Amino acid sequence: MKRGTIFVLSGPAGSGKSTVREKLMQKGLNFHYSVSDTTRKPRGAEQDGVDYRFITKAEFEDGIARGDYYEYAQYTGEYYGTPVSQLIPYIEKGVNVILEIDVAGAMQVRERDKNAVLVMLLPPSYAALEQRLRDRGTESEEKILKRLARARDELNFFDKYDYFLLNDDGRIDECVRRLEMIAEVESDKTRNNPDFPNKFFNIQGETKK
Ligand code: 5GP
Repeated sequence: MKRGTIFVLSGPAGSGKSTVREKLMQKGLNFHYSVSDTTRKPRGAEQDGVDYRFITKAEFEDGIARGDYYEYAQYTGEYYGTPVSQLIPYIEKGVNVILEIDVAGAMQVRERDKNAVLVMLLPPSYAALEQRLRDRGTESEEKILKRLARARDELNFFDKYDYFLLNDDGRIDECVRRLEMIAEVESDKTRNNPDFPNKFFNIQGETKK
């Protein structure tokens, strides 16, 4: 059976990742959104088990020791990680999984699964990013500055990604459309359909040599 594909969506805080991912999920395609564990506190209307599973540092470190995480990273002093249970069972059932994770996590995913597709979402400029973070008004000045510094580092990974999407103002739906197209094209890749020749010859009533 065809395996699902891992789609990693990264981008600086304020790039619009969550909105793009939510809109993609609303389309009812063959996608599971991997809910990460984090040690940071809930922000705004975030719900436990829906946006993240909010856990303590001790719980997270126990999870690391047990090998519960497919990848994990520290971001502005907090742990974030993808539980294996959010990923592998879906991929094995042929469901695509979307991971909204940072660049450090994305590099670990690439290392573990060469077929993973890495997409970076970017605001039109650094200035626009700063403006969005401030407009959000959910974080302290200290956290905003940390996130901006992190955004600079993340851009260094640009060429490690397969695709990038530019989220200019008012362009959210276009980003979702393009992400959907990327998923379609990826599913037609020969390397993602290794069993096709066998099926093909069976349809013809022949056996592949
Ligand atoms: P935020 O606190 O804004 O929700 O997330 C901070 C950063 O952590 C974002 O870049 C987000 O994509 C990333 N992140 C969220 N979940 C995970 C995860 O499971 N693993 C990794 N490596 N990064 C994550």
